[in-house]
Amino acid sequence: MKIIRRKSKVIKVGGIYLGGSYPIVLQSMTKVKTSEIEKTLSQIRELEENGCEIVRIAVRDSQDTWAIAKIKPKTKIPLVADIHFNWKLALEAIDKGIDKIRLNPGNIYNKKQIYEIVKAAKSAGIPIRIGVNTGSLRVKKDRSKLREAQHMVKFAMDYIRVLEKFGFYDMVVSLKASDILTTIEAYRKIARLCDYPLHLGVTATGLPKYGIVKSSIALGCLLLEGIGDTIRVSLTDSPVQEVKVAKAILAGLNIRRFGPEIISCPVCGRCQGDLIGMVRELEKRIANLNFKAYASLLKIAVMGCAVNGPGEARNADIGIALGQRDAVLFEKGKIGKRVAFKDCLETLWRKIRKNYEQSIKV
Ligand code: SF4
Repeated sequence: MKIIRRKSKVIKVGGIYLGGSYPIVLQSMTKVKTSEIEKTLSQIRELEENGCEIVRIAVRDSQDTWAIAKIKPKTKIPLVADIHFNWKLALEAIDKGIDKIRLNPGNIYNKKQIYEIVKAAKSAGIPIRIGVNTGSLRVKKDRSKLREAQHMVKFAMDYIRVLEKFGFYDMVVSLKASDILTTIEAYRKIARLCDYPLHLGVTATGLPKYGIVKSSIALGCLLLEGIGDTIRVSLTDSPVQEVKVAKAILAGLNIRRFGPEIISCPVCGRCQGDLIGMVRELEKRIANLNFKAYASLLKIAVMGCAVNGPGEARNADIGIALGQRDAVLFEKGKIGKRVAFKDCLETLWRKIRKNYEQSIKV
């Protein structure tokens, strides 16, 4: 199945391009007070190391905008100021060198104030995200998911028109609900009504066990339809976890690759060893190799026995299937040597490293 991406405008956030045929960008948000500069910087760096490409920070007061001036010179990743209620903070954030502003139409709607923000964003050459959330819609709560999606779209479109009237077209749009169907419906609708890049996300999804499922369904469905130019997975968890899940969604849909893919079986009574531990160890080692530097296409199969092992490993570049006393290695569909159980992880690891070393020479 080929994904046909919706045609959108291209906008620039710091050094990152959003929209058009540019890769779908990963973003997340820090979860500490922005005015606590060292903590904020440490989360930004951790996010960057884990592949995040744009970071949003909460801006609640002038201490936070003051912190932007201190944080910006110490990081290269584009930063977005998340502004609610107090429009003047947007001006301050722009003045301190922020790369993008997120406005919530639900709480900043005075046209004179919007005009001032637009004027400042335009002269700084930075974009604005119109970030609608169901939680802050200025309409009566609607039980119908369809109507709620319509409200969100109308809200966003009205705001877009206001900015366009002011001669501003450097926009990104998001329509987040905590309900999957409302989110999908809203994005589908707005995708037909404007050509601005879309920032996808489901809001308030809860703990990872729920949030990962909700985000994967909603974002997966939209991405398959070619909708979405940047994604943020919201979880009641660390920002790094959000980025890891966002990467897994894009990699799972074959939209982007961030390193080797590990195919491993679910394990059953036929498995003779600690396959789960082995796969976790491999994943940890692969993450440390910083494979993302060259977007490896390596496919590694780790299977618990010969029932499915050889079959799955046939599609993998390298793999092992555990046996009763030893394991069998596979390479590009060919069965290789048998290795003792205790050596199989290291043998597989040596092959992965060799592939890595060859690829970084290219
Ligand atoms: S590959 Fe073998 S061990 Fe793994 S789940 Fe299938 S049958 Fe069980």
